[in-house]
Amino acid sequence: MSKEICVIGVGYVGLVTGAGFADLGNRVVCLNRNQAKCDNLRQGIIPIYEPGLEEIVRRNIEARRLFFTTDYGEALKDAELVFIAVGTPTGTEGEADLAYVQEAVEGVADVMTRPVIIINKSTVPIGTGDWVARIMSRRTDIPFAVVSNPEFLREGSAVYDFYNPDRVVLGSTDLQAAEVVADIYRPLNCPILITDLRTAEMIKYASNAFLATRISFINEIASICEELGADVTVVAKGMGMDRRIGPSFLQAGVGWGGSCFPKDVKALEYMASVHGCHPQLLRAVMDINRDQRRQVLLKLRALLGNLEEKTIGILGLSFKPNTDDMRDAPSIDIIHLLQIEGARIQVYDPVAMDNARRILSNVTFCPGPYEVAQGADAVVLVTEWNEFKQLDMDRIKAAMRTPILIDGRNIYDPAQMRARGFIYRGIGRGYNGTGNQE
Ligand code: NAD
Repeated sequence: MSKEICVIGVGYVGLVTGAGFADLGNRVVCLNRNQAKCDNLRQGIIPIYEPGLEEIVRRNIEARRLFFTTDYGEALKDAELVFIAVGTPTGTEGEADLAYVQEAVEGVADVMTRPVIIINKSTVPIGTGDWVARIMSRRTDIPFAVVSNPEFLREGSAVYDFYNPDRVVLGSTDLQAAEVVADIYRPLNCPILITDLRTAEMIKYASNAFLATRISFINEIASICEELGADVTVVAKGMGMDRRIGPSFLQAGVGWGGSCFPKDVKALEYMASVHGCHPQLLRAVMDINRDQRRQVLLKLRALLGNLEEKTIGILGLSFKPNTDDMRDAPSIDIIHLLQIEGARIQVYDPVAMDNARRILSNVTFCPGPYEVAQGADAVVLVTEWNEFKQLDMDRIKAAMRTPILIDGRNIYDPAQMRARGFIYRGIGRGYNGTGNQE
């Protein structure tokens, strides 16, 4: 049976969740603090780039199942289920900052007029569900339940992931409430794991930490490959054929970034440390990632010497393809490191340019990849957008001052690039003289 749902926060998670549940036939009101954003959303103009999302938002606005408001009273009027999908950024010590979650929970408690189930979709530290329940109890006498429902969607394929989750995790001390939440996921025909609050919260952190660990692992192997003359792309392929290992998250490159892995690994490390554990592996995973972002600088120094006044072209800025999200993107650190050495930077990204303009300074924003190569002493591929895989590389080379190509995501064939006259460097590609060793 369709439900009355309120979703607080209309970012990558909230908007996909709200639009998705509306599309499944529920009535959803999305609550947002920003009036201009809200006005745009009512007309189907979405504040983020997420393939396929705008279409679902528009369809459900027209069907009068999806609504937007900035008013807690209006959002909570009929709500039975309240999803919290606000940001949980890194705090000053590495902990997850719960200020937005607190604001949302207090907002709900202060206006609710009927029993609700509060569902935490934001990634929150272990124990947050209990903390939310305490805030609620202090501010309202109306019955409520708290359910943890960590989100696993991937930016860039968030809509697909909403309809095709590998699993839905629900944690609560109130099994009946967890079952009510399970019911709204039933149309998706996916496995549903019901557990306690803290275990559900930990599943999210452990999953992200494990994925980050796989990438840092292969990046460490890449550094060893480079020294010993092996090609990490083939090593990863060979490893991935083992069913116990599998091929995902074994692509060596300039490291992981984005809105989740960096803050979640840091937050888990923080939680563990303050509770007397020694999360050595998590620390190593973060250290390797930090070092990995320096790889580009080291390779350029080795090839160009002093980078003062050198022009470096950067292809791709978002933390991964198919998103405009620049949060903790490797491109930011890479560009800063190069700027510190005095390099001039010219950049292009298919969709993240507007967000990048707010973060990067003293860089030239180019209209396309060929302009990035114009007069460049080196071009660095940072984000593996599909459009970079099919570039006219002869045109790129002809535009450059020196044909140095740093392939930060190993998307090009080293032998082909060399045959075209590039001085090519990938990440961890040392095989048989065709990779990083010449
Ligand atoms: P986001 O920054 O894109 O969106 C957060 C939204 O919450 C913004 O629209 C913000 O304006 C709004 N907001 C903040 N406080 C509010 C309040 N008190 N009332 C109403 N709105 C408020 O963040 P996101 O990427 O959607 O992530 C949200 C949460 O989900 C985070 O905890 C994140 O770790 C987690 N998560 C994100 C992803 C992802 O891929 N982005 C995946 C899984 C989990």
